[in-house]
Order: sequence, then C-alpha cells, then structure tokens
Amino acid sequence: MSNFKEVRVRFAPSPTGALHIGGGHTALFNWLWARHTGGKFILRIEDTDLVRSTKEYEQTIMDGMKWLGLDWDEGPDKGGDYGPYRQSERLEIYKKYAEQLVNENKAYRDGNAIIFKTEPGIDISFNDLVYGKVEVMSDGLREKDSEKLKDIVIIKSDGMPTYNYAVVIDDHLMQMSHVIRGEDHISNTPKQILIYRALGWEVPEFAHLPMILGRDKKKLSKRHGATSIYEYRDMGYMPDSVFNFLALLGWSAGDDKEIFTRSEAAELFELSRVARRPAVFDFDKLNYINQEHLKRLDPETRLKMIKPFWIEANLPVEAVEAERGSKWLADALTLMAGRGKTAKEMAEFSDYFVSFEPVKARWNADDLDREKLKEFYKYLFSNSEFKCEILEESARNWVNEHGVKMKDYAMPLRYALTGMKVSPGIFEVAEHLGREECKKRLEYFGLL
Ligand code: GLU
Repeated sequence: MSNFKEVRVRFAPSPTGALHIGGGHTALFNWLWARHTGGKFILRIEDTDLVRSTKEYEQTIMDGMKWLGLDWDEGPDKGGDYGPYRQSERLEIYKKYAEQLVNENKAYRDGNAIIFKTEPGIDISFNDLVYGKVEVMSDGLREKDSEKLKDIVIIKSDGMPTYNYAVVIDDHLMQMSHVIRGEDHISNTPKQILIYRALGWEVPEFAHLPMILGRDKKKLSKRHGATSIYEYRDMGYMPDSVFNFLALLGWSAGDDKEIFTRSEAAELFELSRVARRPAVFDFDKLNYINQEHLKRLDPETRLKMIKPFWIEANLPVEAVEAERGSKWLADALTLMAGRGKTAKEMAEFSDYFVSFEPVKARWNADDLDREKLKEFYKYLFSNSEFKCEILEESARNWVNEHGVKMKDYAMPLRYALTGMKVSPGIFEVAEHLGREECKKRLEYFGLL
C-alpha cells in the first residue's frame, strides 16, 4: 500500500443471523482502524445466499452495530460513491468481470457456471499484518487426494457469484485499503489473491483477527452461553462495556489500560498490537468491565440504564419519580456505586428504594427480639436530624453504653429497610429513604 492512499475498510456480514460476538468483534476492529487513521468504514451486505439472507437480519445487524456505537460512512442505508452496497444488487458487475475472464481465457463455462482456471507457478503469498508472512504457491491449490490443480467456481449455475470471487470484485471496486476479518478466512486469501492477479488489480493489505474461544478453549459457540450481541443488551450490559470488552479480545492498549471509551480506544488502536493468539471470552472480565463503566456513568445516564429493569420487575418507578424527583432516584443509584455487575443486577439490588413491597416479600425474621430493638430504634428516631453521620454517631454511643454489638442492631435495621443482608452503608440508606419512610417500614415489622 502506498502511504498516501486513504484507509478504507469494511465489515461485510452475511445477513443470515443476528450480529454475534465474532461479527461484532470484526466490525469493531475495522471501525477502530478507520477511526484511528481518519479513514472510512464501509458496511457491505453479502446477501448472495438468497435462501438464508433476510432483510430482517440485515436490519438487526445494523441495529446491533449502532447499539455498539459503530457508525459507518457508506452502506446500503447511507449510500456512497461506491455502491450499491448489497451484493444482490451487484450481479451485473460480477457477470461483467467473469465474462472478461472467460474472454481472456482465464476462466471457462461449465453449463451456466463460470469456473476460474488455477494456473501453476503463481506466487500467492501475502504478508498478513497480524499473522506475518503466509507463503503459498498456486501449485498448492490441489484437488483433494489428486495432482490436479483445483479450479475455482466464480459464478454458480444459478447465476450467483461465489464468496471468494464477489469479495475480490467488491473489495477492489470499493477501493479497500485493508481487509480486516476473522482468521477463518486466512485459507481463502490465496484464492482471492489469484483472482486479483488475473484481473491485474492491486491486492489490499490483509489483517486477520484471532479466533475467539470459550473458557474451555473451544471455539466460541452457543454452548458457551449468549452469542448474539443483543443478548448482552438484554442482560443489562452497557454498550460501552461490550465495546470495551470486545476491543480487548486480541488487542491491548498497552500500559495495562483496561477501561476506556470508544474514542480513547480509537486513538490508541494499532493493528500491529493485535495478537495472533486466540482470545478467550471471559465472563468475569466482562462483568468487571461493565461494573467499572457503571461506576463511571453520570447519575442521570445511570438512572436511564437501570429504569427499564425496575419497570420490568413491576416496580412503580414513574410514581416514585413523580413524588421524589428523578434526581432522588439517581442519587439512590449513586449510593449503590460498584454494586451489581450489570444494570439488571444493580436494579435488583436497589429495588427497596423504589418500593417497600419487595422488602416485605423477602422478610423472614420473625424470631427477632423486638423489645430490645425497639428501644434502640426509638433512640435513633429521637435525633432531630435524620442524617447519616448523626444516626451513625448516636447508634455508636448507644451500643457502647449498653455494651452490645453494633451489628446485632444494625443488621436487623438493614433487613427491615432493604430486605437484604448486604447494602450500602445502612445509615446512608436510611437518610436517603428519609425519616417517614424508615418509620413506616420499621413500624410495619413491629420494630418501632
Ligand atoms: N461475508 C463474509 C463473512 O461473513 C465476509 C468475509 C470477509 O470479510 O471477507 O464471513
């Protein structure tokens, strides 16, 4: 590649399923390279499999990319100077070059199909930007268990182009500078180079991305759990975290930097730092990354993330918001900082801020010594100010005076207010719920 050529890369999914982890990963690395270099990121739909391709899948793939924050510069929905961007709309173009190859005696017809002749003695080695030099001679492309060179079908008898052919035509005409895709395509690359050479075209740079494995070191599949990007959204992972996590599969930002935004990643990204080693999909890591992003969110945005999960759990979010204001809810979640790996978990762990009902439903502590606890809680409520520090200090004084343990009094308080064994500092929670609400809850359980 000459140094002056604009970087143009593409994501070329077949719309035969939702956007899965592997596809999202490939799209993301292309996006990173385009944004890092100030180049262009193109979306091309490879829908030549007419039976399995659908417009619905095309739409879900685009929605998945948008959810991840991967915007493209040219594509079927956006247009651009190199369209059309759907292979099914480019059939005339494939036919034209196939005929040219037939006329130049580089391909032949077999019924309605057109077959490319594999000539011996052609060096189809390439220098992969990730895997290094891959040495192949065309003589190596042989029929199985035979000495015969394997010819390449380029147009099938139904008139549709094959993948290895259409991809060359499109990558050339769309002026791709780099082809960045999964390592499962390394073995296709020499065949594609053969076609570039036959057409007298310059070959783009290739960068193949490492395979993604499950924790058992087997290729990532449905068996390992959620494989479509949308399943992560529905589980309450943030797009920023899934982006961050996918970027770290096979790439590192250096300096052990693990948490970053899209634009930070784009700035730091280098193809030369992509690893050849297969990357292992580690849920603990995803959870950790998501938790870190949740912590870093501004309160209003965090509330927006959590709200749908409260609503899903039938909690009266709108009513509470109307009564206490959305800042009050957002502040409740700030108290939750670092609790819950996903938005869904954080919503579950904080339900008691939105309603007393789940606390009642969890309550199972009828063996408490109510009389002693009542004395303590009454004392707490005698404070004129219902503030965390004041509550905590007077609680400390009381337990010291009575020679009892704080936890024996604070734990039942936590349980009565939240229905949980763990929560943020209970006096902080009490202050946030407010005197009236706390009183109501303790009275309900006969503790005040
Ligand atoms: N449609 C092909 C796939 O999804 C594209 C491969 C490529 O990027 O060349 O695997």
